[in-house]
Amino acid sequence: MRGIVTDASEPVDLLILGGGLAGSLIALALAEMRPALRVCIIEAGAVLGGNHIWSFFDSDVAAEDRWLVEPLIAHHWDSHEVRFPAYTRVIDEGYNSIESELLDARVRAVLPSERIIQAEIVDASPTVVNLADGRTFAARHVIDARGPGDLTTLQLGYQKFVGQLLNVPAGHGLTRPIIMDASVDQADGYRFVYCLPFSPTAVFVEDTYYTNGPELDVQGLTARIAAYAGAQGWNATPANRIETGVLPIVMAGDLDAYWRSTGANIAKAGVRGGFFQPMTSYSLPDAVRLAIALPDLIDQQALSFGLALRARARAHWRRGGYFRMLGIMLFRAAAPAQRYRIFERFYKLNPALISRFYAGRSTLFDKARILMGKPPVPLFRALRALLLGHGE
Ligand SMILES: Cc1cc2nc3c(=O)[nH]c(=O)nc-3n(C[C@H](O)[C@H](O)[C@H](O)COP(=O)(O)OP(=O)(O)OC[C@H]3O[C@@H](n4cnc5c(N)ncnc54)[C@H](O)[C@@H]3O)c2cc1C
Repeated sequence: MRGIVTDASEPVDLLILGGGLAGSLIALALAEMRPALRVCIIEAGAVLGGNHIWSFFDSDVAAEDRWLVEPLIAHHWDSHEVRFPAYTRVIDEGYNSIESELLDARVRAVLPSERIIQAEIVDASPTVVNLADGRTFAARHVIDARGPGDLTTLQLGYQKFVGQLLNVPAGHGLTRPIIMDASVDQADGYRFVYCLPFSPTAVFVEDTYYTNGPELDVQGLTARIAAYAGAQGWNATPANRIETGVLPIVMAGDLDAYWRSTGANIAKAGVRGGFFQPMTSYSLPDAVRLAIALPDLIDQQALSFGLALRARARAHWRRGGYFRMLGIMLFRAAAPAQRYRIFERFYKLNPALISRFYAGRSTLFDKARILMGKPPVPLFRALRALLLGHGE
């Protein structure tokens, strides 16, 4: 029988290392677009995707690629809103959330159970993978999607948060997500609260910060979530779902060193390959694009496959230059308590421009438009930060 992955069997076509967001989307895309290929995922955790909620705007995913994420969507809203000290704005752009439970179920529905291996990977080459339990697997191709590589090769700020699901028996009254409620106290950098109303009585609330340092005070932020709920007049009790994140916001760095840090020749996907929006650290739009492109790349030899992914990572890095520059302005030029002004100004712009920004697809005109007008940060500090590259 073909396709059972054991030490002794013939190599599978693709071994996906890490069954998180990027690895799982690749498995789903290949199952649909190249069903004859034998694909296997090796994931350390018991559940593919771990315990995660990933959200995205409708415009983050091209209409022709939507089929890949559609079955994973647990919640959809037709619009969302932002709140700043100066104004509130409703934007008629759809928003969606994927819950990892659905991702796990979907991948298990398309891959035979013996092709989802729960194990710790210790090392990998473009065609061979060694596991902590002593097993070795060979494959025609390996793609590494095990999350971040060596982040010390990059200059970073951080987007960090604690998110908690709250039950509000009397109803929270929200009918659409609040992507940014920056009308809150601007402690510790740019701060905003993010709310996803999953049902009339359940709301996922995330207390979020753009800060220079990665330290995360989970207890303190949980207390702020409770205080936020109280300020909204919600009589809320925490449910059994909490998420924390310390996401890298990239201002500059050495992509080649980042890539080499997890093996120069091995193909990579997701955050490990640098495929994320530098200013938001969100990777779902790029993970979808890569998953859809992969079936066309996979017929090459193992080494060319790795080179093709690396070339794609370089092109992505080049496209990200503008977002990294904005990161420098945010972290190096704006005083923490004033950072919200950058977003307050940005969110007055055309919704289509805002959508392209989040998708990492800003046009030349968008880029000029974002910077036009009276700067929200002191011009001298902005120029100095940009000239220094990595700022003060
Ligand atoms: C709490 C949180 C919320 C986020 N929300 C969003 C969002 O709403 N939208 C968005 O676009 N982005 C979001 N992000 C950012 C980013 O998109 C996610 O981190 C995303 O999961 C990255 O995808 P990935 O596949 O690269 O890595 P991951 O999804 O982290 O997957 C890596 C997988 O590799 C496995 N692994 C690692 N090492 C080994 C090993 N040695 N052996 C075997 N398996 C291993 C891990 O267990 C994990 O399952 C969020 C991040 C966090 C942390």
